[in-house]
Amino acid sequence: MESKEHDIIVVGGGPAGSTTAIGCASAGMNVLLLEKGHPNRNKPCGGVLPLVAPETIEDIVGDSIPDDVRIYPTELGLYYVPPSGRKNGGRVKNYSIHNIERASFDQWLRDLARDAGADVKHNFQCVGVQKKDKFKIKIESGDGTTYASSDYLVGADGVRSTVRSYLFPQKDTPRMIVGQEHWKANGDFEDCFYGFFKEEISVAYAYLIPKADSIIIGLGAEPHKKTNIAQLLRKFKKWLEIEFSFSPKQLMMKEAWSIPFGYFIPGEGNALLVGDAAGLCNPLSGEGIRLAVESAEAAVSAIQTAEGENDPSQIYAKDVHGLASMIAELNEFVRTVDDEGRERFVKDELLRRF
Ligand SMILES: Cc1cc2nc3c(=O)[nH]c(=O)nc-3n(C[C@H](O)[C@H](O)[C@H](O)COP(=O)(O)OP(=O)(O)OC[C@H]3O[C@@H](n4cnc5c(N)ncnc54)[C@H](O)[C@@H]3O)c2cc1C
Repeated sequence: MESKEHDIIVVGGGPAGSTTAIGCASAGMNVLLLEKGHPNRNKPCGGVLPLVAPETIEDIVGDSIPDDVRIYPTELGLYYVPPSGRKNGGRVKNYSIHNIERASFDQWLRDLARDAGADVKHNFQCVGVQKKDKFKIKIESGDGTTYASSDYLVGADGVRSTVRSYLFPQKDTPRMIVGQEHWKANGDFEDCFYGFFKEEISVAYAYLIPKADSIIIGLGAEPHKKTNIAQLLRKFKKWLEIEFSFSPKQLMMKEAWSIPFGYFIPGEGNALLVGDAAGLCNPLSGEGIRLAVESAEAAVSAIQTAEGENDPSQIYAKDVHGLASMIAELNEFVRTVDDEGRERFVKDELLRRF
């Protein structure tokens, strides 16, 4: 039952956690990064990044996304389909999206964290958090139960954050389920990320993404509704068949996970939450990777600025306030928009100039 001391413990080795570890280790802190998954673990994800994301990520982590993390077609157009269908949809002009392989993207970031000097532990799960003078973290791994302590704690452990549930058990954290299927399929598709908006298919968004020799289709749904995610996916496939001659051949994989759907919890004192754990994910598009990296950058900066004197959670909350407000507005939009509004949204997006 050894207990090791660190300046900071980061729980979760997704984009938010690795970026936090990179920043803090580069600033000379002694960092322990705990990831419950194995190296190269898979996270259910569409694996697409908006146009500006690679540059933003490079600025923050100090390295550019390697070619072997990208997946064919590496650049995708952006194609929107409104409730009235393909005839009123189309490709957004001068815009492209980056296509990545999520497992290798996350591993690349964890490797950067290790190279920056963080102690990166795979197959190490945080199962308990106590706060006295310092944070004391209970860890389960192949070595049994161990403890580690630190001055700072960052919960980067995703939408079902263990850190958050220990520190803020009373907070409500609504989620949206996102289900996706990987198919070998034919259809009348271009090399585009397709975003579909129609109430009877999804409260928020449905999508189709070409990935090497397969296609991912997915959609977001509120839990505990009359129509479940499997039924919605069936409806979506029917719509795709009508509009795009979608013809599924072989199902490769099915998966479901959640995204935040209406909470923002930045943390308290020396404990900060970043990425999905904090609720920072776009509910209209499902985009969360870039926001995870950006919120991690803000957390690192808050810890450095506080210099052990001020409250880093307040500095951090102020810094990500703009991001959190934008997400709250999008949340309101998703929860209140009807199909006429969705039709207008797509029309406006197609008129945008990038
Ligand atoms: C189906 C689906 C498709 C999506 N598609 C996209 C997309 O195409 N583009 C995009 O930008 N966003 C997408 N998102 C959102 C995006 O995946 C998240 O917003 C993003 O992963 C958040 O990053 P994070 O680092 O905060 O959390 P995560 O990526 O969830 O990472 C959390 C990490 O913490 C680890 N962990 C959890 N609990 C513990 C514990 N107790 N101890 C130790 N480790 C722990 C987990 O194993 C995981 O590695 C999608 C989401 C879903 C559900």
